[in-house]
Amino acid sequence: MNKHFFKKIAALLIAMTVLPAPSWATGYTETKYPIVLAHGLFGFDNIGPVEYWYGIPSALRADGAKVYATQVAAANSTEIRGEQLLTQVKQILAVTGAAKVNLVGHSHGGPTARYVASVRPDLVASVTSIGGVNRGSVVADLILGIAPEGSLSNTVIVSITNGLGQIINFLSGGKGLTQDSLAAAKSLSTAGSLKFNITHPEGIPTSACGEGAYQVNGVSYFSWSGAKAYTNVFDILDPALTLTSLAFGSAKNDGLVASCSSHLGRVIRDDYAMNHLDEVNQTIGLVNIFETNPVTLYRQHANRLKNLGL
Ligand code: CA
Repeated sequence: MNKHFFKKIAALLIAMTVLPAPSWATGYTETKYPIVLAHGLFGFDNIGPVEYWYGIPSALRADGAKVYATQVAAANSTEIRGEQLLTQVKQILAVTGAAKVNLVGHSHGGPTARYVASVRPDLVASVTSIGGVNRGSVVADLILGIAPEGSLSNTVIVSITNGLGQIINFLSGGKGLTQDSLAAAKSLSTAGSLKFNITHPEGIPTSACGEGAYQVNGVSYFSWSGAKAYTNVFDILDPALTLTSLAFGSAKNDGLVASCSSHLGRVIRDDYAMNHLDEVNQTIGLVNIFETNPVTLYRQHANRLKNLGL
Protein backbone atom coordinates (compact mmCIF):
# COMPACT_ATOMS: atom_id res chain seq x y z
CA MET A 1 0.00 0.00 0.00
CA ASN A 2 1.35 3.36 -0.89
CA LYS A 3 1.77 6.46 1.18
CA HIS A 4 -1.02 8.15 -0.67
CA PHE A 5 -3.49 5.52 0.46
CA PHE A 6 -2.54 5.90 4.12
CA LYS A 7 -2.86 9.66 3.82
CA LYS A 8 -6.38 9.20 2.50
CA ILE A 9 -7.29 6.80 5.31
CA ALA A 10 -5.84 9.18 7.90
CA ALA A 11 -7.79 12.09 6.44
CA LEU A 12 -10.94 10.00 6.49
CA LEU A 13 -10.43 8.98 10.12
CA ILE A 14 -9.81 12.60 11.12
CA ALA A 15 -12.90 13.69 9.26
CA MET A 16 -14.99 11.05 11.02
CA THR A 17 -13.76 12.26 14.41
CA VAL A 18 -13.85 15.99 13.87
CA LEU A 19 -16.85 16.51 11.63
CA PRO A 20 -20.38 15.87 12.88
CA ALA A 21 -21.85 12.60 11.68
CA PRO A 22 -23.51 12.98 8.29
CA SER A 23 -26.92 14.26 9.31
CA TRP A 24 -29.95 12.10 8.51
CA ALA A 25 -31.73 15.42 8.66
CA THR A 26 -30.13 16.86 5.54
CA GLY A 27 -33.08 17.95 3.45
CA TYR A 28 -35.41 16.86 6.27
CA THR A 29 -37.56 19.98 5.93
CA GLU A 30 -37.00 20.47 2.20
CA THR A 31 -40.59 20.71 1.01
CA LYS A 32 -41.39 20.91 -2.68
CA TYR A 33 -43.36 24.13 -2.21
CA PRO A 34 -42.39 27.15 -0.06
CA ILE A 35 -43.79 27.29 3.47
CA VAL A 36 -45.75 30.48 4.09
CA LEU A 37 -46.47 31.41 7.71
CA ALA A 38 -49.62 33.38 8.58
CA HIS A 39 -49.75 34.91 12.07
CA GLY A 40 -52.70 35.26 14.39
CA LEU A 41 -54.58 38.00 16.14
CA PHE A 42 -52.54 41.11 16.94
CA GLY A 43 -49.54 39.55 15.28
CA PHE A 44 -47.35 40.91 18.04
CA ASP A 45 -47.27 44.48 16.68
CA ASN A 46 -44.03 45.20 18.45
CA ILE A 47 -41.91 42.34 17.24
CA GLY A 48 -42.81 41.69 13.60
CA PRO A 49 -43.83 38.59 11.66
CA VAL A 50 -40.58 36.62 11.85
CA GLU A 51 -40.20 36.82 15.61
CA TYR A 52 -43.86 35.92 16.05
CA TRP A 53 -42.79 32.41 15.00
CA TYR A 54 -40.02 32.40 17.56
CA GLY A 55 -37.06 30.45 16.17
CA ILE A 56 -39.27 28.55 13.75
CA PRO A 57 -38.38 29.97 10.28
CA SER A 58 -34.64 29.49 10.89
CA ALA A 59 -35.16 25.93 12.17
CA LEU A 60 -37.15 25.06 9.04
CA ARG A 61 -34.67 26.72 6.70
CA ALA A 62 -31.73 24.93 8.31
CA ASP A 63 -32.73 21.65 6.65
CA GLY A 64 -33.86 22.95 3.32
CA ALA A 65 -37.28 24.60 3.53
CA LYS A 66 -37.98 27.91 1.84
CA VAL A 67 -39.91 29.88 4.49
CA TYR A 68 -41.78 33.17 4.26
CA ALA A 69 -43.30 34.88 7.31
CA THR A 70 -46.11 37.07 6.04
CA GLN A 71 -47.75 40.01 7.74
CA VAL A 72 -51.40 40.91 7.46
CA ALA A 73 -53.55 43.30 9.47
CA ALA A 74 -52.90 42.41 13.10
CA ALA A 75 -56.57 42.55 13.91
CA ASN A 76 -59.24 42.52 11.24
CA SER A 77 -61.86 40.27 9.68
CA THR A 78 -60.83 36.93 8.24
CA GLU A 79 -61.81 38.04 4.73
CA ILE A 80 -59.72 41.23 4.83
CA ARG A 81 -56.74 39.40 6.30
CA GLY A 82 -57.26 36.61 3.75
CA GLU A 83 -57.14 39.01 0.80
CA GLN A 84 -53.94 40.53 2.21
CA LEU A 85 -52.40 37.08 2.58
CA LEU A 86 -53.45 36.14 -0.97
CA THR A 87 -51.60 39.18 -2.34
CA GLN A 88 -48.45 38.08 -0.51
CA VAL A 89 -48.82 34.48 -1.69
CA LYS A 90 -48.90 35.72 -5.29
CA GLN A 91 -45.75 37.77 -4.64
CA ILE A 92 -43.97 34.75 -3.12
CA LEU A 93 -44.95 32.60 -6.12
CA ALA A 94 -43.61 35.28 -8.47
CA VAL A 95 -40.32 35.56 -6.60
CA THR A 96 -39.71 31.83 -6.15
CA GLY A 97 -41.21 30.57 -9.39
CA ALA A 98 -43.07 27.94 -7.35
CA ALA A 99 -46.48 26.78 -8.55
CA LYS A 100 -48.03 26.58 -5.07
CA VAL A 101 -47.35 27.26 -1.41
CA ASN A 102 -47.80 25.36 1.85
CA LEU A 103 -49.76 27.68 4.14
CA VAL A 104 -49.24 27.39 7.90
CA GLY A 105 -51.47 29.56 10.09
CA HIS A 106 -51.58 30.05 13.84
CA SER A 107 -54.71 31.15 15.70
CA HIS A 108 -56.59 33.60 13.41
CA GLY A 109 -53.94 32.70 10.82
CA GLY A 110 -55.72 29.33 10.45
CA PRO A 111 -58.97 30.74 9.05
CA THR A 112 -56.92 33.36 7.16
CA ALA A 113 -55.00 30.61 5.35
CA ARG A 114 -58.23 28.67 4.79
CA TYR A 115 -59.69 31.72 3.05
CA VAL A 116 -56.81 31.79 0.54
CA ALA A 117 -57.09 28.04 -0.14
CA SER A 118 -60.84 28.37 -0.51
CA VAL A 119 -60.75 31.16 -3.11
CA ARG A 120 -57.52 30.10 -4.90
CA PRO A 121 -57.03 26.34 -4.37
CA ASP A 122 -54.85 26.30 -7.50
CA LEU A 123 -52.17 28.27 -5.62
CA VAL A 124 -52.17 26.19 -2.44
CA ALA A 125 -50.66 22.74 -1.82
CA SER A 126 -51.65 22.51 1.84
CA VAL A 127 -53.16 24.39 4.76
CA THR A 128 -51.98 23.66 8.29
CA SER A 129 -53.89 25.22 11.14
CA ILE A 130 -52.21 25.42 14.57
CA GLY A 131 -54.41 26.41 17.50
CA GLY A 132 -56.73 27.63 14.75
CA VAL A 133 -59.97 29.36 15.58
CA ASN A 134 -61.89 27.26 13.09
CA ARG A 135 -65.12 27.07 15.01
CA GLY A 136 -64.77 30.23 17.00
CA SER A 137 -63.64 30.94 20.54
CA VAL A 138 -65.80 31.60 23.56
CA VAL A 139 -63.14 34.14 24.55
CA ALA A 140 -64.04 36.16 21.45
CA ASP A 141 -67.69 35.75 22.38
CA LEU A 142 -66.89 37.33 25.74
CA ILE A 143 -65.16 40.30 24.08
CA LEU A 144 -68.42 40.92 22.25
CA GLY A 145 -70.34 40.65 25.50
CA ILE A 146 -71.85 37.27 24.70
CA ALA A 147 -71.57 35.03 27.75
CA PRO A 148 -70.68 31.45 26.92
CA GLU A 149 -73.34 28.81 27.25
CA GLY A 150 -73.50 27.09 30.59
CA SER A 151 -73.42 28.64 33.99
CA LEU A 152 -70.21 30.59 34.44
CA SER A 153 -70.54 32.82 37.48
CA ASN A 154 -69.99 36.57 37.17
CA THR A 155 -66.83 36.20 39.24
CA VAL A 156 -65.40 33.73 36.75
CA ILE A 157 -66.35 35.96 33.81
CA VAL A 158 -64.59 38.91 35.48
CA SER A 159 -61.48 36.73 35.95
CA ILE A 160 -61.54 35.68 32.29
CA THR A 161 -61.96 39.30 31.16
CA ASN A 162 -59.06 40.39 33.36
CA GLY A 163 -56.84 37.65 31.93
CA LEU A 164 -57.84 38.63 28.42
CA GLY A 165 -57.12 42.29 29.15
CA GLN A 166 -53.60 41.40 30.23
CA ILE A 167 -52.98 39.33 27.10
CA ILE A 168 -54.39 42.00 24.77
CA ASN A 169 -52.37 44.74 26.43
CA PHE A 170 -49.21 42.71 26.13
CA LEU A 171 -49.74 41.63 22.53
CA SER A 172 -50.90 45.02 21.27
CA GLY A 173 -48.25 47.04 23.08
CA GLY A 174 -50.78 48.54 25.49
CA LYS A 175 -53.00 50.02 22.78
CA GLY A 176 -55.98 47.95 23.84
CA LEU A 177 -58.85 47.10 21.53
CA THR A 178 -59.25 49.10 18.34
CA GLN A 179 -62.20 49.22 15.99
CA ASP A 180 -60.47 46.62 13.83
CA SER A 181 -60.01 44.43 16.89
CA LEU A 182 -63.78 44.28 17.13
CA ALA A 183 -63.97 43.14 13.48
CA ALA A 184 -61.47 40.43 14.42
CA ALA A 185 -63.48 39.46 17.49
CA LYS A 186 -66.59 39.13 15.31
CA SER A 187 -64.71 36.83 12.93
CA LEU A 188 -63.35 34.79 15.83
CA SER A 189 -66.63 34.51 17.71
CA THR A 190 -68.59 31.28 17.55
CA ALA A 191 -71.34 32.83 15.40
CA GLY A 192 -68.89 34.64 13.09
CA SER A 193 -66.81 31.50 12.55
CA LEU A 194 -69.80 29.33 11.75
CA LYS A 195 -70.95 31.93 9.22
CA PHE A 196 -67.48 31.98 7.61
CA ASN A 197 -67.47 28.17 7.48
CA ILE A 198 -70.65 28.11 5.40
CA THR A 199 -68.88 30.01 2.60
CA HIS A 200 -65.48 28.39 3.21
CA PRO A 201 -66.13 24.85 4.47
CA GLU A 202 -63.01 23.12 3.12
CA GLY A 203 -61.42 20.83 5.69
CA ILE A 204 -63.91 21.66 8.45
CA PRO A 205 -65.10 18.55 10.34
CA THR A 206 -68.73 17.68 9.78
CA SER A 207 -69.08 16.14 13.26
CA ALA A 208 -68.72 18.04 16.55
CA CYS A 209 -65.12 17.13 17.27
CA GLY A 210 -64.02 14.88 14.43
CA GLU A 211 -61.59 15.26 11.58
CA GLY A 212 -62.26 17.08 8.34
CA ALA A 213 -61.59 15.96 4.77
CA TYR A 214 -57.86 15.37 4.31
CA GLN A 215 -57.95 16.87 0.83
CA VAL A 216 -60.36 19.27 -0.87
CA ASN A 217 -59.92 20.78 -4.37
CA GLY A 218 -56.38 19.40 -4.42
CA VAL A 219 -55.44 21.13 -1.14
CA SER A 220 -54.32 18.97 1.82
CA TYR A 221 -55.58 20.05 5.26
CA PHE A 222 -53.88 19.47 8.64
CA SER A 223 -54.18 20.76 12.20
CA TRP A 224 -52.78 20.47 15.69
CA SER A 225 -53.18 22.30 18.97
CA GLY A 226 -52.21 22.39 22.61
CA ALA A 227 -54.51 21.79 25.55
CA LYS A 228 -52.73 23.15 28.61
CA ALA A 229 -52.91 26.79 29.76
CA TYR A 230 -50.16 26.92 32.38
CA THR A 231 -46.89 25.42 31.17
CA ASN A 232 -43.92 27.52 32.29
CA VAL A 233 -43.52 29.36 35.58
CA PHE A 234 -41.23 31.95 33.95
CA ASP A 235 -43.67 32.95 31.20
CA ILE A 236 -45.46 36.11 32.34
CA LEU A 237 -48.51 35.36 30.14
CA ASP A 238 -49.27 31.93 31.60
CA PRO A 239 -51.33 33.25 34.55
CA ALA A 240 -53.45 35.29 32.10
CA LEU A 241 -53.98 32.26 29.85
CA THR A 242 -54.97 30.26 32.92
CA LEU A 243 -57.70 32.84 33.58
CA THR A 244 -58.98 32.87 29.99
CA SER A 245 -59.00 29.06 29.93
CA LEU A 246 -61.78 29.25 32.53
CA ALA A 247 -64.10 30.36 29.72
CA PHE A 248 -64.08 26.83 28.32
CA GLY A 249 -65.34 25.08 31.45
CA SER A 250 -64.30 21.45 31.23
CA ALA A 251 -63.59 21.48 27.47
CA LYS A 252 -59.96 20.87 26.46
CA ASN A 253 -58.37 24.16 25.41
CA ASP A 254 -55.05 25.98 25.02
CA GLY A 255 -56.19 29.04 26.97
CA LEU A 256 -57.76 30.80 24.00
CA VAL A 257 -59.11 28.10 21.67
CA ALA A 258 -60.95 24.85 22.41
CA SER A 259 -59.21 21.76 21.06
CA CYS A 260 -62.33 20.76 19.11
CA SER A 261 -62.50 24.21 17.48
CA SER A 262 -58.91 23.82 16.27
CA HIS A 263 -59.72 20.70 14.21
CA LEU A 264 -59.16 20.97 10.47
CA GLY A 265 -58.58 18.19 7.96
CA ARG A 266 -56.19 15.59 9.36
CA VAL A 267 -55.84 16.19 13.11
CA ILE A 268 -52.25 15.40 14.01
CA ARG A 269 -52.96 15.95 17.72
CA ASP A 270 -55.15 18.28 19.75
CA ASP A 271 -53.75 17.84 23.24
CA TYR A 272 -50.10 18.78 23.32
CA ALA A 273 -49.17 20.13 26.76
CA MET A 274 -48.88 23.62 25.28
CA ASN A 275 -50.84 26.83 25.55
CA HIS A 276 -51.87 29.11 22.71
CA LEU A 277 -48.58 31.01 22.75
CA ASP A 278 -46.39 27.94 23.26
CA GLU A 279 -47.74 26.81 19.87
CA VAL A 280 -45.54 29.50 18.27
CA ASN A 281 -42.71 29.01 20.76
CA GLN A 282 -43.63 32.12 22.77
CA THR A 283 -43.00 33.93 24.96
CA ILE A 284 -39.42 33.93 23.55
CA GLY A 285 -39.01 30.19 23.81
CA LEU A 286 -40.56 29.82 27.28
CA VAL A 287 -42.53 26.63 26.72
CA ASN A 288 -43.24 23.38 28.53
CA ILE A 289 -39.93 21.59 29.02
CA PHE A 290 -41.78 18.31 29.59
CA GLU A 291 -43.44 18.41 26.15
CA THR A 292 -42.02 18.03 22.66
CA ASN A 293 -40.58 21.40 21.68
CA PRO A 294 -42.97 23.29 19.39
CA VAL A 295 -40.14 23.97 16.93
CA THR A 296 -39.71 20.20 16.56
CA LEU A 297 -43.39 19.88 15.62
CA TYR A 298 -42.90 22.35 12.76
CA ARG A 299 -39.85 20.45 11.55
CA GLN A 300 -41.68 17.14 11.72
CA HIS A 301 -44.57 18.64 9.82
CA ALA A 302 -42.32 20.02 7.09
CA ASN A 303 -40.94 16.51 6.74
CA ARG A 304 -44.50 15.14 6.58
CA LEU A 305 -45.30 17.58 3.76
CA LYS A 306 -42.08 16.68 1.98
CA ASN A 307 -42.88 12.97 2.16
CA LEU A 308 -46.32 13.66 0.70
CA GLY A 309 -44.66 15.40 -2.23
CA LEU A 310 -45.92 18.81 -1.10
CA1 CA B 1 -45.17 29.98 26.80
